[in-house]
Amino acid sequence: MTERTLAIIKPDAVKKNAIGDIIRRYEAASLRPIAIRMTRISKAQAEGFYAVHRQRPFFESLTTFMASGLVVVLVLEGDDAIKRHRDLMGATDPAKADPGTIRAVYGTNIEYNAVHGSDSPDTAKFEIGFFFSEMELGVR
Ligand code: ADP
Ligand code: MG
Repeated sequence: MTERTLAIIKPDAVKKNAIGDIIRRYEAASLRPIAIRMTRISKAQAEGFYAVHRQRPFFESLTTFMASGLVVVLVLEGDDAIKRHRDLMGATDPAKADPGTIRAVYGTNIEYNAVHGSDSPDTAKFEIGFFFSEMELGVR
C-alpha cells in the first residue's frame, strides 16, 4: 500500500555533509521525496514534535540537540514507506543498527543518530502535518 512517512536528517548528519547521500538512499529504495525543506527547529518546536517522549530522561537533551543546527525535513512516499524507511534507517542505537543502514553509517550514538522516521500511520499523519501544510502536499 502506498504510504507517506516523515523523515528528518538531523543536525549531526547535516554537519557530516551527509544530506546528499541520505536522500540518494531514499530514492534508490523508491521512497520518493514529495516535500522537502531545510530549516532550523526551535527548542519549543522540538518539544512539540517529541511530546510523546516528554517523560523520558533524554527529553531535554534530545530537544536541545534537535534545535542545535539545520535539519532537512522530508515527506517520503512509496509502497510500505513507513516500515521500509525504518529498515533503511536501522535501529535507534547506531551500535545495534544493521551494517549499511543510515544510522550504522552516519550515527554517532543512541542520541545523535542521524535521522528520524515516523513509526506508524498515526505518527506519520501527525508528523507530516507538523511540518507541511495541505497546500504544500497538494497534488503530487
Ligand atoms: P526512534 O528515533 O528510533 O523512533 P525513539 O522514538 O525511541 O527512537 O526516540 C526518539 C529519539 O530520541 C531517538 O531517535 C534518539 O535521537 C533519542 N533517544 C532515544 N533513546 C535514547 C536514549 N536512551 N538516550 C538518549 N537519546 C535517546
Ligand atoms: Mg520514534
